Amino acid sequence: MTIANNIDRIKKKIKEVCRKSDRHSEEIKLIAVSKTHPVEKIVEAFHCGLKVFGENRVQEARDKFKRLEGYPIEWHLIGHLQKNKINHAVKIFDYIHSIDNIELAEKIEKRLEVLGKEIRGFIEVKLSEEESKHGVSIEKLNALAEYCSNLKRLKIIGLMTVPPYFEDIEKVRLYFRKLRELKEELNINIFDGALTELSMGMTHDFEVAIEEGATYVRIGTGIFGERNYDGD
Ligand SMILES: *Cc1c(COP(=O)(O)O)cnc(C)c1O
Repeated sequence: MTIANNIDRIKKKIKEVCRKSDRHSEEIKLIAVSKTHPVEKIVEAFHCGLKVFGENRVQEARDKFKRLEGYPIEWHLIGHLQKNKINHAVKIFDYIHSIDNIELAEKIEKRLEVLGKEIRGFIEVKLSEEESKHGVSIEKLNALAEYCSNLKRLKIIGLMTVPPYFEDIEKVRLYFRKLRELKEELNINIFDGALTELSMGMTHDFEVAIEEGATYVRIGTGIFGERNYDGD
């Protein structure tokens, strides 16, 4: 399968799920997750019409960003952001999906002030007990949301989650549904409707994520094929 075939197949699936679940396919933004893959593959996907790419490591994204200067690409940071990488990250990325604590949000905002830049952000929510997962716990979500709702340059537009892996994707559905409910609650209690996006769904579960309200799906393997090492 070529990248062009893969993109075609994913786009058809997105349309099909939207039709069945009574959604407009224009509401669904496809993020091509290019982590671990070389810039040549990004260029190939770009020429197939994709402009939105996701990376999970700042250093790797930096190298790719430099080599792809001049390409009108929208860069999304989908992985955990360490505090010592903030300065580099805010230069490169247009969107950050991994806002999960107040200190991080505060430091990003300060840096953005210095640069005179704005970034759109997602609050990453941890909905399972897995130790390996990042994201804010449900208990701390309100405080983080309250803090973020007052920021000027880091504009929070929605929530993001990475659910645990289940072979049976119906089990994943509950996590996606929960994220949508949290977004609705935060819109009423804190954000006054400003949260419009849900970043959820990867190669093996994006169809269910769309059924449950995803507006950004993050797809790596389904577009670029298997990764040589786990990019987490
Ligand atoms: C790697 C990654 C993806 C893409 O996963 P695939 O299964 O290859 O589609 C999506 N989201 C996050 C946060 C990732 O780290």
